[in-house]
Amino acid sequence: MIHDQPPAADVLPAKGCFIDNRWVPAVSGQTLPVSAPAEGRVFAEIAAGGREDVDRAVAAARAAYETGSWSRLSATERGRLLSRLGQLIEANFEELVALEARDCGKPLATARADITATARYFEYYGGAADKVHGEQIPFMNGYYVTGEREPLGVTGHVIPWNYPAQMTGRTLGPALAMGNATILKPAEDACLTVLRIAELAAEAGFPEGAINVVPGLGHEAGAALSEHPGIDFISFTGSPQVGTMIQTAAARNHIGCVLELGGKSPQIVFDDADFEAAVPVIVAAIVQNAGQTCSAGARLLVQRSAWDRLIPMVVERFAKLRAGKPEDTPDLGPIISAKQRERVAGYIASAKAAGLPVLAEGAVQEEAPEGGFFVPPVLFGPVPRDAALACEEVFGPVLSALTFEDEADALALANGTEYGLIAGVWTSDTARAVRLARRLRVGQVYVNAYGAGGGVELPFGGVKKSGHGREKGFEALYEFSALKTVVIKHD
Ligand code: NAD
Repeated sequence: MIHDQPPAADVLPAKGCFIDNRWVPAVSGQTLPVSAPAEGRVFAEIAAGGREDVDRAVAAARAAYETGSWSRLSATERGRLLSRLGQLIEANFEELVALEARDCGKPLATARADITATARYFEYYGGAADKVHGEQIPFMNGYYVTGEREPLGVTGHVIPWNYPAQMTGRTLGPALAMGNATILKPAEDACLTVLRIAELAAEAGFPEGAINVVPGLGHEAGAALSEHPGIDFISFTGSPQVGTMIQTAAARNHIGCVLELGGKSPQIVFDDADFEAAVPVIVAAIVQNAGQTCSAGARLLVQRSAWDRLIPMVVERFAKLRAGKPEDTPDLGPIISAKQRERVAGYIASAKAAGLPVLAEGAVQEEAPEGGFFVPPVLFGPVPRDAALACEEVFGPVLSALTFEDEADALALANGTEYGLIAGVWTSDTARAVRLARRLRVGQVYVNAYGAGGGVELPFGGVKKSGHGREKGFEALYEFSALKTVVIKHD
C-alpha cells in the first residue's frame, strides 16, 4: 500500500531517505505505512524509496569513497567515529528501545538486549578498525612483498525486519571499519530504529555519504540496490528466495556477496544430557523474538531413550508461555505482520489437520490488544521426518520434536535438511560432542548451550541454503575487504 496523502495526526510522519547526512523525500513523493504488530494498526510512515533514490544514494557513497572523505580517513579515526556512534546509541537507549519494541512488537526485555547489542557492534568494530594488519610474504631474494587489506569500495546492504537495529550494527560496522562507503536498504515492515541510527551517525561526525539509508519495498528499492552497477559488494540477510535474486544480480555485475538466509536449526538432546540445564534454553531458543530468528532452535531432536523423561519437562514449561504486548513482560511478542501471521498460522493449521500430535500449546495474554498479530506457541511431536514441520522454516513460535536412535542417526537427521545455520548438542560425553561439532554441516555449533543470534564477537553464517560468507566477529572485516599483493624489487 503506497500513500501520497499526509498521515493521520497520531502517525509518525516519514523522515525520508537518508542521503549525504540529510533527509530527502523519495523522488516519487510516496510513503509506506508501518504497522505496530502488537496493536495491529498503522503508527508510522516511511519513504517509499525507488530506483532514483538508490541512484542518488550510490552517487553519494561513491563520492565519499572516491574523494577519500571517508575511505582515506585513518583507520583509527574511522574506529573513533564508530565507537562514538555506539556511545550515542547508548545515550539514546530508552528512545531506541521503545521504538524497536513498538515497531517489531518485541517484549521490552528483548528490545533492550537488541539495542545493547547494536551499541556493542559499533563499539566492537570501532575497536577493531585499526587492528587489521597486513602481512609480509616471503618471496624471491631481492623482493619485498606485502599483502594489504583494502576496502571494497561502495557496499550495499539489504536487511530484514526481525532485528532491524542489530542487523544495522552487524552489517554496517565491519564495512565501515574497513573504509567502505555504504548504502543500507532496511525492511519495509520495521526500520524506524535504523533511520534513527543514521541520524545519530551524522551527529557522531560521520562524513556525508559514508552511511546512506534508502527505505522502501524490496522489489523496488531492494532490487534497485542489488542490481546497481555502481556498487562493489552486497550483503543480504533475508529469505533464500530473495537471496537467489541478490546473488544472480551480483553475478551479472561481477561482484561478491554475503548471504545470511534461513535455517531449521536442531537442538540435539542425548539421554546423558543435563535436562534441567537444557530445557529452559530449548524453550527460549524457539520463543525468542516469537520464533522469528533465522537461527531459532526449531527442531528438537530427542534420543528415543530420553523422550519419556525430557518431553514432560519441555511440555510443562512450554504450556506456560504467554504472548503479549511489549510492556506486559510477555514470554514472546506478536508476529511482525498480518501476512506473516497468516503464514505461521497456516503451518500450524495444516499440521493439526494432518493429525500431528500437539504436545503443548501456550496462550495469548488477556491484556493483549484485539487486533495484534499474535500466535500462541505450539510444540508438536513426535513429528515424522518427512513432514513440512520437520524440514521447512516456519519463522514463528513452532517447535517440532523428533526422535533419533543413536549418534549416527542424530547426525543424519540434523544434517538432513536443506539448511545449515547453527546447531545445539546436549550431552555429557565430551568425545561425542567433539565428533558431532566436527560433522554437523552448519556455521556454528553450541555444546550444552545455545545462542540464537547472540555474540557480536562470534563469526556467524551458514552453509547450503542458509547462505555463505560470514558476518560478526573479526571475520567480517575480511569479508568487507580485499587483499592486495604489492611486490617491490629492491636489489
Ligand atoms: P525477505 O527476503 O522477503 O526480505 C528481506 C529484505 O529483502 C527486506 O529488506 C526486503 O525488502 C528485501 N527484498 C525483498 N524482495 C527483494 C528483491 N526482489 N530484491 C532485493 N531486496 C528484496 O525476507 P523476510 O520475509 O523479511 O525475512 C524472513 C526470512 O529471512 C526468513 O527466511 C529468515 O530465516 C531470513 N532471515 C535470515 C537471517 C540470517 O541472519 N540468516 C536473519 C533474519 C531473517
